[in-house]
Amino acid sequence: MRNGVERCWLSRRRSDGMTMAHQYLVTEEIPELAALSKPLPLLRDVDTSYYLRQERHSYILGPYEWQSTAMWLDGIPDDFAGKLWPAELERLEPQILDAGERVPLIAEAGIARVVNGPIPYAPDGNPYLGPERGLRNFFHCNTFSFGIAQGGGAGKAIAEWMLNGRPEFDIWGIDRRRFKEYATTQYTIDRALEVYQNEYAMGFPFEERPAGRPSYMSPLYDKLKAKGAAFGARGGWERPTYFDPKGEVTDHTLSFFRKNGWRKVVAEECHAARNSVALLDLPGFTKIEVAGPGAFAFLDNLICTKLPKVGRLSLSYALLPDGKLLSELTVARLAEDKFYLVGAASSEWHDLDVLEMAMPTDGSVTIKNVTKDYGSLILVGPQAREVLSKVTTTSLENADFPWLSHKLIETSVGKVLALRVNYVGELGWELHAANNQMIALYDQISAAGEKHGIRDMGIYAVDSLRLDKCYRGWKGDLEIGFSPFDASLDRFVDMNKEFVGKAALVEEKKNGSKYRFVPMTLDVDGDADVPFCASIFSGDKRVGIATSGGWSFTLNQSVALGYVFPEFEAAGTKLEVEIFGKRAAVTVGAEPLFDPKNDRLRS
Ligand SMILES: Cc1cc2nc3c(=O)[nH]c(=O)nc-3n(C[C@H](O)[C@H](O)[C@H](O)COP(=O)(O)OP(=O)(O)OC[C@H]3O[C@@H](n4cnc5c(N)ncnc54)[C@H](O)[C@@H]3O)c2cc1C
Repeated sequence: MRNGVERCWLSRRRSDGMTMAHQYLVTEEIPELAALSKPLPLLRDVDTSYYLRQERHSYILGPYEWQSTAMWLDGIPDDFAGKLWPAELERLEPQILDAGERVPLIAEAGIARVVNGPIPYAPDGNPYLGPERGLRNFFHCNTFSFGIAQGGGAGKAIAEWMLNGRPEFDIWGIDRRRFKEYATTQYTIDRALEVYQNEYAMGFPFEERPAGRPSYMSPLYDKLKAKGAAFGARGGWERPTYFDPKGEVTDHTLSFFRKNGWRKVVAEECHAARNSVALLDLPGFTKIEVAGPGAFAFLDNLICTKLPKVGRLSLSYALLPDGKLLSELTVARLAEDKFYLVGAASSEWHDLDVLEMAMPTDGSVTIKNVTKDYGSLILVGPQAREVLSKVTTTSLENADFPWLSHKLIETSVGKVLALRVNYVGELGWELHAANNQMIALYDQISAAGEKHGIRDMGIYAVDSLRLDKCYRGWKGDLEIGFSPFDASLDRFVDMNKEFVGKAALVEEKKNGSKYRFVPMTLDVDGDADVPFCASIFSGDKRVGIATSGGWSFTLNQSVALGYVFPEFEAAGTKLEVEIFGKRAAVTVGAEPLFDPKNDRLRS
C-alpha cells in the first residue's frame, strides 16, 4: 500500500492516490446460515451503500459510508505494515441499521470482529497501470481499491506491457497518464471521497460529478457561465456541455433513457450549427509543436498517414508496431520543418510519450508542448464564413482558404491560427488563439454573428453532430484493439511509404481485417440510445460491438457507431443491438450518414 498522497521517490513523481480507512464487520455465527445447504448470493444496497455476503456461518457487512476522510496526509507511517486501525462503528451506523431492517438476522446477531484497514483511491477509483509519463521502463501497478478482485488482470496486463510493449486489451481507463498535473493532492482527495461515497451508486450517462472542479478553465469560463453554460470536465478542462440562455432547463434528473432536461436546448444548438452558425469554446486540446531538420522524417515514420504539404493539414494516425491504433492527431504543417499537432484533451501525456519515446536523439527534432498557451474557438455552420469575414481581413474564400488548410489570419486582436477543419461536419474554422486574445476574439465573433442568430454550443451538441458524420472518438471508438482498416480508416493509411506498423498492415491486407467500422440507425426509436460496448447480433451470433451511441438531432434518429465482422458491413444490412438487456433492430448505414459527399465542409 505504498501509495497514498506519497512520492514515488524512485521517479521523483507524485503518485496521485490517497488513502481512506475502510471497514467491514463480521457477525457472530448465525444458526440459520449454518443450516443452509448452499451459500447465499451477495447483496448490494445501492441506496444505503453497503454489501452483505456470507462468510462461513456469519455475515460480512461492508459499507461505503458517507463520512470517510483522507488518512496519512503526511505519508504512510513506516511502522504500519500489516496493521489495522481500531473499529470506528459510529460512522457505519446508517448502513448497519439499514442492513438490520432489510435482513433481520443481522439485527439479532452480535458483532464478532471489525476490520478497519487502509484502502487506496485514485481520483476516479481505478488503479494506476502502465508507464510513468516521460520515463523509460518505469511502470505503475498500484493504487488498487479492489486489489483482490483486480490483482489477476492487473498482473497479466502489466506483465504483457513490460514483455510485449502493450497489454493484450486497451486499458486506457486505468493508464497512469489519464491524469495530469491537475490531479493535485486536494483534487485527489475531493474526487476520491466522492467516488467512495458513490461506490455503489448508479453511474448515469451525462453525469458530471462536481468534486475537485474546476481545475483548468478557459479565459472565457466566467463569461460563458454568465450566458447559461453548464460545464463538464474533460481531461481536467472545464468545457461547456450545453447553454441554457433562457433558464429553461429545470429538470436535471439523470437517466439512462432519452429524458435529459437539456435535450431541447441541445437540439437548438445542433440546428444552429447545421442551418446558421454556432460557436464553441473548446479549451484543452493537446497542442504540440514538432520542429527541426529531422521533423518530417521523424513524423513520416511515426504516422501512417501521408503528411500534409506546407499550409495544409490532415487527420493522422500513429500505430503500434503490430499495426493497431495508438494516437489520433490533426497534423498541420506550418513550414517545411515545423508541424503543429492537435489531439484530444485527455491524450496530452499519452501523446507526448508517444512522440518523445520515438524522437531521434541527435538533436534534429524539438518537441514543445503548447497545450496551455492557446485556447480554441470553433465556428461552424453555413454562415461561418460570413461571420468570420467580419473579424478578419484575410480572405476566407475557398480558392484562398480551402478545406483542410490553415493560415495565420489577421484580426484586430492580432494573428490567430485558423484551421479549416471541424468535428461537426460543417463549413467552419478552428481558431487557435493565445489565451490573452480569447475574450476579445469571442466578443467580436459573437457580435458579428448576432444578425445570423449565432448560438453558443456545448459538447453534447458536438457529440450528436459528430455521430451524423461518423467521426470517431479517441479511446471511445479508436483503441489498441483495432487497426486503421478495422476502423474503416483506409483512406488515412499511405501504404506507399514506410511507417511503424506497416508490416502488420501488409499482412492484414493480404488476410483481410477482422472488423469494419460502420454507422447504424435504430429501426424503431425506442426510449434509449445504444450504450458504449453494447453487443451487436445477427440472429444468435454476436457479430460486433458498438462503441458510440446517441441521438442525432439532425437526422432525428438514434445513431450508433461500431465494429462488425466484414460480412455485415454493407449498407442496408439488418442487425440487432442489445440495449439494457433488450434487443433493438438496427440497419447498417453508409458513412457518413449526413452530407455523404462532404459538400458542406467544402462549401
Ligand atoms: C476493510 C477492507 C476490505 C476490503 N475488501 C476488499 C474486497 O472485498 N475485494 C477486493 O478486491 N479488495 C478489497 N480491499 C482492498 C484490498 O485489500 C487492496 O486493494 C489490496 O490489499 C491491495 O493490495 P496490494 O498488494 O496493492 O497492497 P497491500 O495489500 O497493502 O500490500 C502492500 C504490502 O507492501 C508492504 N509494503 C509497503 N511499503 C513497503 C516498503 N516500502 N517496502 C516493503 N514492503 C512494503 C506492506 O506491508 C504490505 O504488505 C479491502 C480493503 C479493506 C481495507
